[in-house]
Amino acid sequence: MPQRRTKIIATIGPAQDSPGALERLLDSGVDLLRVNLSHASPRAQAERVRRARAHRPDIAVLADLAGPKLRLGELADDLKVIEGDTLVLGAGGVPVGDSSLYGRVRVGDPVFIADGTIDLVVTEVAADRVVCRVRVGGVLRTRKGINLPLDTSSLPALTDKDRADLADIAVLAPDYVAISYVRHERDLADARELTKLPLVAKIEKQQALERLDAIVAAADAIMVARGDLGVEIPIERVPATQKRIIRAANRAGRPVITATQMLMSMVSNPLPTRAEVTDVANAVLDGTDAVMLSEETAVGHDPVGAVKMMIRLLVETEPLPAPHEVPARSEPANALAHAAADLADDLDAAAVVVPTRTGESAQRLAAFRPRRPILAYSRVPETTRRLHLIWGVQAIDLSVPPGGDALNATLAAARRDLGAGARAVVLDISSKVGVPSLVNAITF
Ligand code: PEP
Repeated sequence: MPQRRTKIIATIGPAQDSPGALERLLDSGVDLLRVNLSHASPRAQAERVRRARAHRPDIAVLADLAGPKLRLGELADDLKVIEGDTLVLGAGGVPVGDSSLYGRVRVGDPVFIADGTIDLVVTEVAADRVVCRVRVGGVLRTRKGINLPLDTSSLPALTDKDRADLADIAVLAPDYVAISYVRHERDLADARELTKLPLVAKIEKQQALERLDAIVAAADAIMVARGDLGVEIPIERVPATQKRIIRAANRAGRPVITATQMLMSMVSNPLPTRAEVTDVANAVLDGTDAVMLSEETAVGHDPVGAVKMMIRLLVETEPLPAPHEVPARSEPANALAHAAADLADDLDAAAVVVPTRTGESAQRLAAFRPRRPILAYSRVPETTRRLHLIWGVQAIDLSVPPGGDALNATLAAARRDLGAGARAVVLDISSKVGVPSLVNAITF
């Protein structure tokens, strides 16, 4: 039976390019790999993903599109700026990667560079440049990110690069695609015209918070993208905003990922800080489905150590009681899932067993956070891989003999997995007219 229910996503990068490093990361207990397309194309990342699947064929992959992030252009040398300096972005000054910058700021607006560490205020705007005064200095480096928190222009969430990456995404065969800088549910509809893959909406803009429930309803999963979020909104609002996003996702039965800087100091240190370990625990108590590692695994000195630390924290924290939002039980499928979770508790069942073609039944059950394990059996390999993201779900590939029935095959597989004499609750939600749904208790 599982010791841990919260899922772990590890971002892969240069740290996995030394011999055996990717394999060790895959063996450490990660549930999904994240491929960041901010600085690379799908083709450039395909070799890492190919190696990952050669070692663990069932590993789920999340491809994270870059989105319309503004960046500095190429800088030949680093440039130090200090408080009070005048800094020109654009013609005659520091190059910027996208000329739309000049039309998106007004005098008095803040401009943040390098994850908000460099703070500028706009003093003059021209057609080909923006003049700023430095409020908090630092070192400008090539292609560092630029954030404009007061920018309300409605740029599409999908850039030309994202569109090209989506056209090429099959080389990664990902299980999820993450859309960056979602502002409106329309952004997800636009992406769905280009891909049939499940979409993760990254919440990192104030505008997204204003349409949160509609975005949650339109997405397949949600990410609390705290890196950009902490620049786009005042950083002191990040904790409450994280809780708000997780609650909205829990209420809608959508899986939610808490991301960025969870164990950041482990990029170079053997142990995380007290604040970091408390952050991971709090994300669990908030109701997150998954926690995500970024630099910790992509460029850190000990990716496996970061995953192991995550596992220790999850195992220790998950037994603590924590109230969380659940989907409305007025919907019949939710009421059935809730009934199965309660029945499993009342009977002290070994597991709730769920046959699931699309994964939806297992996801509905997980949304009620049953105390007993969830064993989800699917004959669709894409479904079992996608379920690796969902809190508490152990997804198992099911083979159904020709002409056989998925429920009978599931019961035979569960008997094999749980052992003769084990008691299980079975949840079989049918959406077909005339085919009854079933919540039952059986002893194998
Ligand atoms: C974030 O901003 O927290 C995030 C996950 O996105 P990225 O790493 O692509 O900036």
